[in-house]
This record gives sequence, C-alpha cells and structure tokens, in this order.
Amino acid sequence: DNFSFQRSIQLLDSALQNQIAAGEVVERPASVLKELIENALDAGADEINVELEDGGLSLLRISDNGHGIRQDELELAVTRYATSKVQSFSELLQVNSYGFRGEALPSIASVARLRLSSIFKSFESLEQNNHVEAAFIEIEHGRLINQGITALNQGTIIEVRDLFANVPARLKFLKTPATELKRCQELFFRLALTRLDVAFSLTSGAKNLITCHKNESLTERLGHFWSGDLIEQLAEFKQDNNIFSISGLLANPEQAQSKKERVLFYVNKRPISDRILSAALREAYKGRLISREHPQAVIFLELPAEDLDVNVHPAKSEVRFRDERAIFSFVLSSLKNTLNEKFALTASPLAR
Ligand code: ADP
Ligand code: MG
Repeated sequence: DNFSFQRSIQLLDSALQNQIAAGEVVERPASVLKELIENALDAGADEINVELEDGGLSLLRISDNGHGIRQDELELAVTRYATSKVQSFSELLQVNSYGFRGEALPSIASVARLRLSSIFKSFESLEQNNHVEAAFIEIEHGRLINQGITALNQGTIIEVRDLFANVPARLKFLKTPATELKRCQELFFRLALTRLDVAFSLTSGAKNLITCHKNESLTERLGHFWSGDLIEQLAEFKQDNNIFSISGLLANPEQAQSKKERVLFYVNKRPISDRILSAALREAYKGRLISREHPQAVIFLELPAEDLDVNVHPAKSEVRFRDERAIFSFVLSSLKNTLNEKFALTASPLAR
C-alpha cells in the first residue's frame, strides 16, 4: 500500500532550500544582473559598473560605491531570508527598497560560484580616521569555500561565475552567449532609466558597450539605447491627481513606424510588466495607429506605497494595485490627455 512508501518528513538542508528558491529568482544571467544592480541601488551607490564575459554565463561582475557590508555580516548576506531592508510586516507594506525578500544572494550562490567583497566604513571609523579592512567570502553551489581580507577601497564587488554549472537542466535552457548578452543589455537599460542620478557602465569582454553619466536627462539616457529618430518623436509629459502621478515619454502616433513594440512601464521606479497598464496604453492609442504599428512609451507611475503590493513574485517583475480600476482610469485619462495635447489629431490614420 501507499503508506509503506511514505518517508519521514525532514527539513531540507539550506543549500537545497536555496536551490529550490533559485528556480524562481534566477532564470538566466539577466535575472542575476537585475538582483545585483538593485542591491547596488539599495546600497545608495551612485556609480555602478557591470562587466560580463560570455553574456554573463562565465562571469558577471558588478562593482558599486554604495555603503558596503560589514565584515561580520557577509555570511548573513548570503543566508536566505536575511535582509537589512525590512524588519516587520508593517515595513513590508511600506517598502521602498528594490529588495526585501533576502533571497537573491543565497539563491545565486546556490547555483554558481559567488564571490562577495565589500568594505563598510562606519561613521566612527570615518570620524576617527581609522583604517578599515575590506573582506570577502566565496560560496560555491551553496557552500562556503573561502573567506578573508581583500583589497578594496569602496563599496561592494560581486562576482558570479559559471552560472548553473551544477544545474544541467537550466544550463541547457539558456541561449547563446550573444542572446544572453542582449538580455543583459536590455535589463541594464531598463534599470539605468530608473535612476538618472546614477552613473552606469556596461562592458562585455574587453569591450565597453555603454557608459551613462550621472545626471543625464531621460532623453539623453534613452539615447544610449534607442535611435535618434525614435527619440525625436517622443513627447515628455507629466500629470498627477494628488494621489497618483505619471510621467515619461510618449511617441507621436502619427509618426509611429516601428514594427517592434517599445513600451517600458515602471511603478514606483520598479521595472514591471502589467496587463492593466498595457491595456490603458492600448486604449489610449486606439484608433490612432494603423494595425501594424505599435505604441512606444516610457511610463513612470508613482503611487503611495500602501496602494501597491510589490510582494507578488520572487523576481519582483509584477505588482498588484489595491484599486485596479482607479489606476486604469487615471493612466488612461492621463495618456489620452497627453496625446491630445501634444499630438492633435490632424487626420484619420486610415486617410494617411
Ligand atoms: P534583499 O535585497 O532582499 O535584502 P539580497 O539577498 O539581495 O536580499 O541581499 C541580502 C543583503 O545583503 C541585503 O539586505 C543587503 O544588506 C546586503 N547587500 C547585498 N548587496 C549589497 C550591496 N551591493 N551593497 C551593500 N549591501 C548589499
Ligand atoms: Mg536584493
């Protein structure tokens, strides 16, 4: 009978727990990159450098000039559910950092070799001009393999090598280095747009691909990624109703040429995809595009933290709105107003 096959219930060891969580958080190099850039931003960095080898498959290295991690907390940083960002349920409801789950580093470390180097300069040590040492730890497939003192004068460096070397099924599912590189670039682009006050650079092998300087305008930053023609026909807009605010860039529907949709949504600076926002955008452009054309837009929606649940998905690529109807109608009317204001209808698109 079935009962004879029942094994005793046991708690999974922590490496296996993390490998299971990694299945949701770490899909490919670009998802690793997302978590690591978000961590650097959460650490207050205003300079973030990304280096990739083989599209991030053999190496992904991120360095930042953020506040760093204390030497005695390095192991905690790679422990599941350990986070410096939330401490209570009420804080979770108000969270405004990108991270809050304490899952990314342990997940990544369970399916790769991760080296974390950091230097933490406390106010006391800065005041007293004390020498502070940088420290590192190295984890391979969830196990601590090395730790000690290292040379580093600011922030944090995280290196992730040989992603999924221990997960053949996932490794097989990855695309070529060139395709993975493209996905990393797209992800880099999405996050670089959220913080114009931060400098970002991306190199692949020995080649520098993108350098975004600090304090660029949105269109300047977009110019690293989209063609000049495309950017020229975008109109900047901003609307608010005292609770929600929306801003960004919308393409002139009459000049839409692209065969490819380029629509980027952000909610409280998080890059997300959302069917309600997509529906509002489609509705706003309805009747103004011919069938093969796509709207193009970069849209930043800001709303009070309590109107938003960001804890929906381990990769944090989705959110849930408390009042979906209110969001839909606010976004739709804002976008419609903008289109009418900036791009007055000259003729029916069918007449062109
Ligand atoms: P979360 O971001 O959800 O807290 P992570 O696993 O991504 O979880 O990171 C764990 C912790 O390690 C963070 O809470 C933070 O304290 C620390 N940390 C991670 N990356 C950095 C970084 N680049 N600079 C400073 N601290 C970091
Ligand atoms: Mg994180």
